[in-house]
Amino acid sequence: MNHLLLATVISIGGSSVSASISVLGKKPEWSRLDVYHNSITSVAFEELLRKVYVPRESWWKGWIKIDEKEVRIRKFAGKEDWYVLPLASCPDVAARNHRKEYWRSATKLRALAREKPLTGFHIALDPGHLGGKYSEMEGRHFVIGDAAPVKEGDIALLVAKRISKSLGGLGARVSLVRNRKKPVTKETPKSLRQEAEAWQKRIEGDAVPTQTKKERKKMVRRRGEILFFRSSEIMARALKVNEKIKPDLVVCIHLNAAPWPTPEKKSLVARNDYHVLTNGAYLGGEIALDNQRLEMLVKLLNRSHKDERSLAECMAGSFKRTTGLPAFAYKGPNAIKVGKMEGVWGRNLIANRLYECPVVFLEPYIANSKEVFSRIQSGDYEGAKMVAGKLRVSLVEEYVDAVVAGLVAHAASHAN
Ligand SMILES: [Zn+2]
Repeated sequence: MNHLLLATVISIGGSSVSASISVLGKKPEWSRLDVYHNSITSVAFEELLRKVYVPRESWWKGWIKIDEKEVRIRKFAGKEDWYVLPLASCPDVAARNHRKEYWRSATKLRALAREKPLTGFHIALDPGHLGGKYSEMEGRHFVIGDAAPVKEGDIALLVAKRISKSLGGLGARVSLVRNRKKPVTKETPKSLRQEAEAWQKRIEGDAVPTQTKKERKKMVRRRGEILFFRSSEIMARALKVNEKIKPDLVVCIHLNAAPWPTPEKKSLVARNDYHVLTNGAYLGGEIALDNQRLEMLVKLLNRSHKDERSLAECMAGSFKRTTGLPAFAYKGPNAIKVGKMEGVWGRNLIANRLYECPVVFLEPYIANSKEVFSRIQSGDYEGAKMVAGKLRVSLVEEYVDAVVAGLVAHAASHAN
């Protein structure tokens, strides 16, 4: 669902003068970039930076200096301490110094392909959110009248388990980043209370407090919850993806939602659409955070964008065909159009930034639209049924079909 809040949460403190990292963010280890020395040309670096990762020059020019032979990156906000990344003199030199990542590109995998379309592919499915008893806390939950509550995390998990079953038959190896309605992180809102307090203090600064003690306590408690289900949970998943699962790609499974027309009285909307996200479109305040700047550079330098884009375009095409829905288009600066295929956008989310391999976010369906709501209420059934005025398969089945077709198209597009 709507990931807008994410960016605001992690950008707090993002001024260019004070030392700054995201809440719960690790102190950046710039030596992580050592393995990318001489692995990209000046032209290729600048193109990826401008077209995918940081579209506005004014947002990066205080942090990143590019010339023919090297890129210099400011290591810490407010300090004249620069990391120097030597550049390749030509594409041949760059190719020779290409770093071997834990994931393999679709081109490489297809070269090894055997009889089945996804043989060799290790695919991780990441069902968004937590669902279950956490769905209300994480704001991925709504109820209309006497109908059963809609929990995005539960639907995502059901979809992921079904995709996993279908993919086995196509030769892929599949891992689930979350396989139950429970968090991956060991932290809890309570264990993060100290960090929540620090975060609150950072926001308050020297301002005179305007809220009562009780109100403040409630606010800190809420911040602890946000740190738990968003920051800490996604960081734990990233560790699992990068250190344990080490897949060739990750598919993050979500359902989108539209803002309620009147928040006090929830009424379903008419809008229904799909879109797919790659990593990109870092905002000025995000690039100003030392850890996010480093994480962006790892994504840029490991060249995951090429596969990310191919996969996202195949998924967008497949959702268009399978659902018949229109593509969603962003209007604000928090997203960038990626390629020409409609419905494919770049955004900076914690998960698609921290998962080092190619990762796409699927955002099909507006869960609080009239049509999708009645489809969700009809549950997961076999075959076709009249739902919301049309004969159709269940939403879960349709979602699964679209993802499987998208993955096969991605692999096939790299056939030699
Ligand atoms: Zn979601």
